[in-house]
Amino acid sequence: MEKSWRWISVNAEEIKEITCIICPIGCRMKIQRVEGEIEIEGNGCPRGIEYAKEEMFDPRRTITSSIFVVGGEWPLVSVKTTRPVPKRDIFKVMSALKAARVSAPVKRGEILIKNVAGTGVDIVATKSVRKAS
Ligand code: SF4
Repeated sequence: MEKSWRWISVNAEEIKEITCIICPIGCRMKIQRVEGEIEIEGNGCPRGIEYAKEEMFDPRRTITSSIFVVGGEWPLVSVKTTRPVPKRDIFKVMSALKAARVSAPVKRGEILIKNVAGTGVDIVATKSVRKAS
């Protein structure tokens, strides 16, 4: 699910509006910076507070994509990061995935790239690809 947020200005204060995606309820929250602190409104439970803090100070995303397969029944295998990566690293992770080649067979769950682009996160196959017959 894509997150939605925007900054608005209210009496020179900054407010960020986000939708929590931790559970299906999808609480709409307001995060406001007040004198070096942040105030959070609209969270339905404490997990929303942690999510809001992460979105403010260290936003991360799980990346799903594909990698070229050499000698496989399919030319690509779908992959994802084993953990969310900082948003600032998404471009370099995507570049690494575009340049990567793996040889068939590939098993679902197999780690295909360790520490992708120096992020400390691995890339795992989400499908299996057999060798071409
Ligand atoms: S704040 Fe709590 S209840 Fe609301 S969406 Fe997030 S996890 Fe769910």
